[in-house]
Amino acid sequence: MARYTDSVCRMCRREGTKLFLKGEKCFSTKCAVANRPTPPGQHGQARQRKASEYGLQLREKQKARRCYGLMEGQFKRTFDRATHMKGITGENLLQLLEQRLDNVVYRSGLADSRPQARQFVCHGLITVNGKKVDIPSYSCKAGDVISVRATRKDMAHFQVVKEGITRVIPQWLTVDAANLTATVSALPNREDVDINVQENMIVEFYSR
Ligand code: SF4
Repeated sequence: MARYTDSVCRMCRREGTKLFLKGEKCFSTKCAVANRPTPPGQHGQARQRKASEYGLQLREKQKARRCYGLMEGQFKRTFDRATHMKGITGENLLQLLEQRLDNVVYRSGLADSRPQARQFVCHGLITVNGKKVDIPSYSCKAGDVISVRATRKDMAHFQVVKEGITRVIPQWLTVDAANLTATVSALPNREDVDINVQENMIVEFYSR
């Protein structure tokens, strides 16, 4: 399966905003966006031309896609699912992205970043309702209980999590840090999304 293997900080610099892909480093003085706030590449420091309407729509789409760690085809399929749901397509899209298992592991504080959460899921460290699930795109439903597998709870990373999660947990998740468990108490809505993205521009991008 195709995957992005270049520096993830380049993606933040390209989007001109923090996408929080590196865990603790994102909050430190080493953050690449803070130190080099220009687009990456040879011409990154050249004077930027005014972006076209298409360019603005593309950037919003790329920002959301990169933040949740999806490749283009997977993001488009998620968008297509959103168009077939009742309600506002842009909000449906964000809801589907938030419901992904790797995102739930990250938002509940069990992982420091979405890429790390994806790795935990792919490596079989996570269970849903007591059963191992190693599919990052698994769509969590209200009532699902996400937990760290009993055999992996003694990993050094999870010992730190057990001591307490300092990050703000969204209200649609109930987290029991001591037991390394998160419960999806409701489906997320627009206010629960923590990235600064204009979803209507993504809809316009795919509606061209
Ligand atoms: Fe983005 Fe984090 Fe890298 Fe900063 S440290 S550029 S927020 S991934």
